[in-house]
Amino acid sequence: MRVLITGGAGFIGSHLSEALLAANHQVHVLDNLSTGSIDNIAHLKTRPGFTYDIDAVENESLLAELIDRADVVFHFAAAVGVKLIVEQPVHTIETNVHGTEVVLKHANKKKKLVVVASTSEVYGKSTDVPFREDADLVMGPTPKHRWAYACSKAIDEFLALAYWKERKLPVIIVRFFNTVGPRQTGQYGMVIPNFVRQALAGEPITVFGDGTQCRSFTHVYDVVRALTALMAEPKAIGEVINVGNVEEVSILGLAERVKALTGSNSPIRLIPYDQAYESGFEDMPRRLPDLTKIRRMIGYEPTHALDSILADVVEFIRNQ
Ligand code: UDP
Repeated sequence: MRVLITGGAGFIGSHLSEALLAANHQVHVLDNLSTGSIDNIAHLKTRPGFTYDIDAVENESLLAELIDRADVVFHFAAAVGVKLIVEQPVHTIETNVHGTEVVLKHANKKKKLVVVASTSEVYGKSTDVPFREDADLVMGPTPKHRWAYACSKAIDEFLALAYWKERKLPVIIVRFFNTVGPRQTGQYGMVIPNFVRQALAGEPITVFGDGTQCRSFTHVYDVVRALTALMAEPKAIGEVINVGNVEEVSILGLAERVKALTGSNSPIRLIPYDQAYESGFEDMPRRLPDLTKIRRMIGYEPTHALDSILADVVEFIRNQ
């Protein structure tokens, strides 16, 4: 198959490119390198079946042509990372809403399958864990910029599902739960690359809030495996699907594990949320997926435990 990946030079997109090439698909990456990096795809440039354009999805004439040439589109181009989102809410909303709008509009002309990357962030402040795809989304108030990201992604989901319902454009929505692994940068706030870098540098490991908040981290290799299976699964069309892992860890516990794994002497420092992000910042206490749907659909089971994820990230950052 010919696959177009918007945001393909990003962390997840570049791993997906690699997996698709290995399975003998053709891959075209469209990426404006806003948060992605050319380094992520440099090793793919000479691979047969791989092509790319450094441009934005807002370049609609290019986008339309690339969609015409593809059988499937993975739409991953988006503003991501809590730090970036809080600092640049205008950019976040415009990129996430408009980008998806143009991708769906052009894909609809030729009815090309679009896989839309969404996020567990859409469950917002819900405490109804584990999160099921049909559960209520609980957003915070609009002056708190974090929720702009969740809402922008929720609009993407609404729009994609509307295209499916009203115009029979095949779409699949995947909600990622804290995907991590080699190539993820800590630059936009993601916790694991930040902790590992801090631990290796002997700097304080900065735990935001009191560290009791929990996450379940998913190895990017598990995510990519799920994506390649879902794109070939007719039952996934028109569906919202969680892609995650069920091993939970508190952020303080995570800091301790990173410290032990790296043999670091870094102190663990608690930083209040308003200092880390902005005044009145709201975090979610737990974020855990219900994986019943994806298990039933493609027999997905996460295979990488947290220690294996951390080992891969440590190795990647050590070699940088
Ligand atoms: N976090 C932290 N220190 C950091 C970066 C993040 O304690 O240097 C916390 C953050 O407040 C959140 C969790 O780690 O509770 C996961 O953060 P991340 O930005 O990776 O993903 P999120 O789950 O917030 O989307």
